[in-house]
Amino acid sequence: MQSRKHTRGRTAASPLRRIRFFTILGLLIPLSLISVLIWAMAQIQPGPSPSGAAPAFPRDTPSLILAGEGQEASWQLRLVNSTHPLPGDWDPDLSVIDPITGEKFDSRALEYLRAMLDAMEREGLQPLVCSGYRSYESQEAIFQQNVETALCQGYTQEEAEEQAALWVMPPGCSEHQSGLAADIVSAENQNLDETQEDTPEQAWLHAHCQEYGFILRYPQDKTELTGVNYEPWHYRYVGEEAARDIMSQGLCLEEYAAPPTA
Ligand SMILES: [Zn+2]
Repeated sequence: MQSRKHTRGRTAASPLRRIRFFTILGLLIPLSLISVLIWAMAQIQPGPSPSGAAPAFPRDTPSLILAGEGQEASWQLRLVNSTHPLPGDWDPDLSVIDPITGEKFDSRALEYLRAMLDAMEREGLQPLVCSGYRSYESQEAIFQQNVETALCQGYTQEEAEEQAALWVMPPGCSEHQSGLAADIVSAENQNLDETQEDTPEQAWLHAHCQEYGFILRYPQDKTELTGVNYEPWHYRYVGEEAARDIMSQGLCLEEYAAPPTA
């Protein structure tokens, strides 16, 4: 009986089941294709980077993409040194870094500097920007002060200027005049000397500055190329892409940046 019922059941229901089967199949295939298409399109949409070891700030904020993109990409790579002085009428748009110190920085790069300092503070560090933008006049005053000191030590005028230039750029030639350089020290140790290198603030900056578009501008092994003694506290904004290249390859800006054409 069971066998007969089974047989009758199969013969009666089979065409109907086939219709149902092919109807469902006909619906499922396009639906699957649409789902796959939607998934594939979602994969190629620009979106935030996957969360990883690198800080989210510089990469995930579309408005902050600068290096290598568009006509404004080169401003942050401008080489400023004794052979590439800034024009006399250099007048960058500036913003105050910290109202307490009153130090200023190029407005276009300030948010990167702030992000870097904020990240340090979140880790319990105490960074202090003791010197940002300098006007031509203030750079001249600092340079002359160093020349005077050397003259008092018995150097001739020419020698005194050479000595001063080892530590302070002549007016027009300092990166601080560009508005893109910052001397960052530890609030616990504000001496601009070799002890700065031993602070946790410098250890952090040397390891992470490139993630925010900054480089250690005067490395220990590049004195001959930069013309400036090792300064573990002096950081220069160049944009994230250039900063990562420069720091990972152990270069200095003289080796990386082309001289400005304008
Ligand atoms: Zn400096």
